[in-house]
Amino acid sequence: MTQLLRNPKQAQQEHYDIIIVGGGIYGVMLLLEASMRDQKVLLLEKQDFGGETSYNSLRIIHGGLRYLQTMDIARFYESVAARRWFLQTFPEFVKPMSCLMPLYNKGAKRPPILKVALTLNDALSAFRNNGVATDRRIPNGKILGADETAEHFPGVITKNLSGSALWHDAHAPDTQRIIIETLHWAIGLGARAFNYVAVSDLITSKHSVAGVQAIDEETGEKLEFQCKKVINVTGPSCRKISRQWDRDIPELFKSSVAWNVLFDCPAPSRHALALTPDRKNAHTYFLHPWKGRLLAGTGHAPANAQNAACPDKTSIDQFIDDLGMVLTDVELSRENIERIYAGNLSVTEEGGTELTKRAVIHDHGGNGGPRNLYSVSGIKFTTSHKEAKRAIDSILGTSNTGSLKRPELSSLPDLVCMGYDWMPDENDSSWKDELTRIIESESVLHLDDLIYRRTSIGDNRMRTQKLAAEISGLFAWNESRRLSEIASIERLI
Ligand SMILES: Cc1cc2nc3c(=O)[nH]c(=O)nc-3n(C[C@H](O)[C@H](O)[C@H](O)COP(=O)(O)OP(=O)(O)OC[C@H]3O[C@@H](n4cnc5c(N)ncnc54)[C@H](O)[C@@H]3O)c2cc1C
Repeated sequence: MTQLLRNPKQAQQEHYDIIIVGGGIYGVMLLLEASMRDQKVLLLEKQDFGGETSYNSLRIIHGGLRYLQTMDIARFYESVAARRWFLQTFPEFVKPMSCLMPLYNKGAKRPPILKVALTLNDALSAFRNNGVATDRRIPNGKILGADETAEHFPGVITKNLSGSALWHDAHAPDTQRIIIETLHWAIGLGARAFNYVAVSDLITSKHSVAGVQAIDEETGEKLEFQCKKVINVTGPSCRKISRQWDRDIPELFKSSVAWNVLFDCPAPSRHALALTPDRKNAHTYFLHPWKGRLLAGTGHAPANAQNAACPDKTSIDQFIDDLGMVLTDVELSRENIERIYAGNLSVTEEGGTELTKRAVIHDHGGNGGPRNLYSVSGIKFTTSHKEAKRAIDSILGTSNTGSLKRPELSSLPDLVCMGYDWMPDENDSSWKDELTRIIESESVLHLDDLIYRRTSIGDNRMRTQKLAAEISGLFAWNESRRLSEIASIERLI
């Protein structure tokens, strides 16, 4: 079994083909793809792996139904293929999810029109299940009548209801494990990856990349790594880094704020619901029955003055009011917010909210900047592997990946991806043995790494509060360190 060992000081002695700066989903997929081409690759992440935007997604692995609306057929095919890759490659973590959209004969949202759209969706995505295990296949969509809709979604607003569209997409309730398992996979192919190492500068020689300077965030030590190529894949920071190391490339990232809200209440239906409030310019919300709880998203607003990755009070109030208009039998308020998952998304215009449609792969050297410096700005978790492959194909000029076979999982999904209401059984300590193994083998430096980004314990606030002290006892920390780690968990709760 591979281990995510953390020895950045020692790793300075090696010379790398590629250094990847940023350990979100795009960084780890680039690491995997480059390792498959026998490249010597190092990934450096300034916080914990997958702790920024990638932690905050709605966890939907999108097929392309929404892109049929705008007849963006290229994006539709890309999305279906990307979803199929996830279903095929990580069947333990990615599952089909049924989605229901009530129809009120408004605009194009009418049963006959949706029937055509679903038929087209099924026909154009006929390849969607090739190579996918039987229980992970995406079935055809259909139209339900008004009565049947009310059976599937008892709280549906029945006034003017003409039926609903029922289709399937995919979801990945525990995306953090996909990131960690991808790291294990790449490390098995010879890659190295360190968390809590922030890249501070680019080293160049004769206008070509020679390495990076970095800081070990744990020890404060300055580090230097030599390499031939650098890929800046720092999500919302990639434009700032491009400015520091080369120049401003505006298309890399124009920021907006996006968020999902987890409510401490049961989901209103076993299906994900696509619901639009009855008001002018209303946005369609997606109500995800995540682990039986209601995870609603995605709220979206222009970037604020501080460029913060969290919505302001007015945006959350509007969000709750909107959900109140579409849910008749659930009372939502600020009091039942369990957690807000928020991050920055790239948009087409500064200050706007129209989402960027394509990932950006920028070759700085080819555009007058340092040679062998690249920036990659992704737009969806769903397409991360596809875009990583495209970027590495273009950077190396080869598409030969050798074997794509994923190794055995490094963890036992049942012990690390627990349900929302899971609590340990006093007579069974196997969960603690699994956590100890993870601490020893997955570069767990802090209590929150283990609780939020190696396991699903942190999904439930109450559980986190109850177990934090007990879990901290699994680390070889002195009392003062233990208390400070518990205190940082309490600040996160
Ligand atoms: C609210 C919300 C909902 C979403 N829902 C979905 C969804 O349902 N489905 C979907 O497909 N997509 C969704 N997305 C989009 C998806 O989450 C993102 O496209 C994806 O996570 C971006 O990954 P990334 O690796 O580019 O960025 P990040 O995850 O932000 O990773 C960048 C990393 O770079 C690191 N970094 C920055 N500076 C440095 C440095 N100097 N040195 C080292 N490391 C550095 C950061 O710490 C960070 O970990 C959603 C996004 C948001 C915000």
